[in-house]
Amino acid sequence: MVPKEDSTAEERVVTTACSWDCGSRCLLKVYLSGGRITRIETDERPMPSLKACPRGLSQREVVYAPDRLTRPLKRAGARGSGDFIPISWEEALKIVSEQLQRVKENYGPESVLLMDYSGSQGPLHGTNGRSARRFFSLFGGCTGVFGNTSQEAALFSSMATFGTLFTGNSRDNFLYSKLIILWGWNPLVTRFGPDTGFYLSQAKKRGAKIICIDPQFNPSGRRLADQWIQVKPSTDTALLLAMAYVLIAENLQDHRFLETYTVGFDQFKGHLLGKEDGIPKTPGWAEEITGVPRGVIVELARVYASLKPAALCAGWAPGRTAFGEQYHRAASVLSAMTGNIGVQGGYVSGGTGRMPVGTLKKFLPVPPRTMPLIHVADIYDALLKGKGGEYPSDIKILYIVGCNLLNQLLNINKGLKALQVPEFIVVHELFLTPTARYADLILPVTHFFEREDIGQPWGSMSSGFIPMNKVIEPRGQTKSDLAIFTDLAERLGISGYREKSDEEWLKEFLSASPGMPDYEIWKEKSFFEVEHPRPWVAFRKEIENPQENPFPTPSGKIEIYSQKLAEMKNPLIPPIPKYIEPWEGPRDPLVRKYPLQLISPHARGRSNSMFENIPKLKPLNDLRVVLNLQDARSRDIQDGDPVRVFNDRGQLITTAKVTDQIMPGVASLEAGAWYCPDEKGIDRGACINVLTKDAKSPGGAFPCNSCLVQVEIERNFTEFQGPLGAHGQDKIAIKAGKSLDSQD
Ligand code: SF4
Repeated sequence: MVPKEDSTAEERVVTTACSWDCGSRCLLKVYLSGGRITRIETDERPMPSLKACPRGLSQREVVYAPDRLTRPLKRAGARGSGDFIPISWEEALKIVSEQLQRVKENYGPESVLLMDYSGSQGPLHGTNGRSARRFFSLFGGCTGVFGNTSQEAALFSSMATFGTLFTGNSRDNFLYSKLIILWGWNPLVTRFGPDTGFYLSQAKKRGAKIICIDPQFNPSGRRLADQWIQVKPSTDTALLLAMAYVLIAENLQDHRFLETYTVGFDQFKGHLLGKEDGIPKTPGWAEEITGVPRGVIVELARVYASLKPAALCAGWAPGRTAFGEQYHRAASVLSAMTGNIGVQGGYVSGGTGRMPVGTLKKFLPVPPRTMPLIHVADIYDALLKGKGGEYPSDIKILYIVGCNLLNQLLNINKGLKALQVPEFIVVHELFLTPTARYADLILPVTHFFEREDIGQPWGSMSSGFIPMNKVIEPRGQTKSDLAIFTDLAERLGISGYREKSDEEWLKEFLSASPGMPDYEIWKEKSFFEVEHPRPWVAFRKEIENPQENPFPTPSGKIEIYSQKLAEMKNPLIPPIPKYIEPWEGPRDPLVRKYPLQLISPHARGRSNSMFENIPKLKPLNDLRVVLNLQDARSRDIQDGDPVRVFNDRGQLITTAKVTDQIMPGVASLEAGAWYCPDEKGIDRGACINVLTKDAKSPGGAFPCNSCLVQVEIERNFTEFQGPLGAHGQDKIAIKAGKSLDSQD
């Protein structure tokens, strides 16, 4: 057991949980001396435990960063210039409340667009769907957003196929798997629970065969896999359909499972055999599309059908493509065809991977209110066109909480125009991000070290609940989002926003959740682990006793064919999973102009775009564009050469990394680097979203990995000496100026 606090030692230790948006919730032991954090350690127990990654262990540098925002800032130059002056909270709250009141009275509350996202996580202080939504619900409404940028395709598939989002197994299941397929999944970097890497390594030691399917031989594949299968981005569904075709052709499917637990297999089989479109989905058909040799497809299907139990872990990256929801649905059908659902060591492929065990049953409540919604991929279009573009509202105020919107949404150059449209932009932030630079007012917020909450694993991807103790007092004049909205509610005469103190809320959340200890007992612990007498397996009871335990779908079975989807009568959202030719895929005519498919994996040192400004973590990130040897040679590009990556939407200049660890025709650039334009408007920060297309998939997927580009050597390369510095942040603090330092 890790002590929560050791008051006998000279150093004090306070434990908390890392709360960033990566799915894990790792234990942090924060050492203090004289009220200052001196160092951070983590769970010292051997694995499996709640060990933190370098990002969590670098939170001292985050909380004390010299460019941390610690006073409210008001824009003093052109929007986007980064020129701000500090103002008092009194003035800042007066401005925000008057703007909200003005717009509500003149245009209606839906003229406020709320973009609250996953910048910080927690049932009380989490920014996604909590404090801001509670405020705006009581305010009278606003326009909200929908569409999860990471997993919307998986959410769609989970609900359509299984009728629930809880499709995940605990990671110890890997110990029973004979085969593990890491499909577009790189958990050694993205984590998805502190124990994922450990159990995968153990499974390998026990003899599990591990296959990596990815356009790039990612770090997890390199470390763990016996085989790398290269598939062209946006074409994974075709590969899955061809695997299903092989199972049928060789009679390898689990007939009993399909008959007992599924509906719609015959329609799916008919589609595979080409009964409706005359095109059998053979390995030869898929080879043309995916680039995977037909022999490899046949062998892959046979291995998946014979090595049981098998975990086909369908990662979210292939779902972040045009028609990405079809990939998740097809993966789910494969796991049903092989009978890998509901069994130890198997896996419900294609779902969200969430588990219902140990989930808190209560969070900061949001009073129900029907609000118009805009998909995250449409935000810029909605700002630019408003009702004239058939969007629900003409946006006058953009209210951003926990989101580096400009950097992380698709098509930055369109975003730059769109961010000039609202009459007023408010941003709650820790740092002067590329988005915050476009604010009219920035409200500085606390870090999770500066408040109390509950460290709940994201979607219960592990089973540890960690008391998030307050480590230090809020730096400077920062306030929590909850405190900011409390103040605004008071000014606007909104009653009932802050019904309870933080502690009262947290007690309520815990006591409403079965299996959790009393609050006081829980607070004495460093963490609380939910015990599993055996590995948690999604749908175990549905499989063991289907009569008593139907699936929560309309048919009570796994829906290979979804009547609900059929009733939508949209050929782009078919009732069975189909390969639909994606935009900006390898067969788009646009490849003649832009022949490389650009993908954007996560970086080791960032959580999405967070921590880009933290020098200690920078060396973990790679700002280079990765190219195959063949593609580099044909462009006369050597490793380390400066290159320009471009398409009709934008361009960036970076350097090339030339390797055989990525397939020909594909380029890769890590997501999350901060947008940093030079004087010509060319990005020098390696921010991929200057290139991505702002379009949503019909089922809602966020298609950031459907993006065609060209890469050329940059012969007139000049070192970038612009106002933001090569990586963006160092000069932002200086630019924002004297006002930002010595504020604490
Ligand atoms: S960033 Fe994620 S994996 Fe790393 S310590 Fe924090 S919660 Fe854990």
